[in-house]
Amino acid sequence: MAKPKVAFYWNASCGGCEEAVVDLAEDILKVVEAVDIVLWPVAMDFKRSDVEALEDGEIAVSFINGAVRTSEQEDWSHLLRRKSGLVVAFGACACFGGVPGLANFYDRKQLMDLVFHELPTNDNPKKTEPQLETKMPEGELELPSLYDTVYALDQVIDVDYYLPGCSPPPKLIMEAVQAILSGDLPPKGSTLTTPKSLCDECARNETKPDKIKISELKRPHLTEIDPEKCFLAEGIICMGPATRGGCGERCINANMPCRGCFGPTEEVRDQGAKFLSALGSIIDTQDPEEMERITESLPDPAGLFYMYSLPVSLLRRKQKTS
Ligand code: SF4
Ligand code: SF4
Repeated sequence: MAKPKVAFYWNASCGGCEEAVVDLAEDILKVVEAVDIVLWPVAMDFKRSDVEALEDGEIAVSFINGAVRTSEQEDWSHLLRRKSGLVVAFGACACFGGVPGLANFYDRKQLMDLVFHELPTNDNPKKTEPQLETKMPEGELELPSLYDTVYALDQVIDVDYYLPGCSPPPKLIMEAVQAILSGDLPPKGSTLTTPKSLCDECARNETKPDKIKISELKRPHLTEIDPEKCFLAEGIICMGPATRGGCGERCINANMPCRGCFGPTEEVRDQGAKFLSALGSIIDTQDPEEMERITESLPDPAGLFYMYSLPVSLLRRKQKTS
């Protein structure tokens, strides 16, 4: 019997999700034995024409990581959607926009001006910028266009399942692969991990007082962190209350607070706004000036609360000024 065909593809991402597949270690042999990999640009030499030659729906499942921010990424996403029975948004950037989604605090022109003209390390006297088409003696060269806005995968194509994380833990990847191969899948649109919050699974939850009150926000790298105590109770921002569990408390176990890479829980619509409201309720003052003093000790609150989820937030992006 023919093995099910599987594709791995990357859009705007750092490559960590690809490493997560390699991190399956010897389990990757079980995957390779059970499936026929038809696309995996980071590891194997397939061409676009190989994918185009497949029948529509012939790929059993495509795992697509990364946000979508160029015309090429959008184009590939549509191609894989057409060729695949199932599409899994793989990793935080595909699920929510991820760290690349923080670019939505700016627009395309601001980014191009910064990178090609304003950075002090730049030496660009002719003010050259990348062109979509360039004529060379050998022929015409093309570049994909860079969009003004970064998108999560489901803002571009229909997605069947979500596997969050920066990057998804190998255990969850194996469970997802096994569920897909066996057909034992939850309803379409499900996130393939627990619906609980990270706090619900965190061993430090027991040290979290019923009513936390903090009068100072501490930065982890400037603080001696008690390895047993809840970060929030110590005045260190931890996104656990607004974040879905299932990661194995990777950061907490390394004595670092959660930054929210599993995205919002089932009940939370906007991860950053949810955390902001939680923070408002635990700051121990009613005095506006004191409140300002405490919150100003956070250098980049928007970047912190929306580190992984700005494109799918209620804000989606900073309003354009031009
Ligand atoms: S806030 Fe962080 S440290 Fe505290 S219980 Fe939740 S996940 Fe654990
Ligand atoms: S603790 Fe938070 S940031 Fe760290 S892996 Fe888990 S969900 Fe992601």
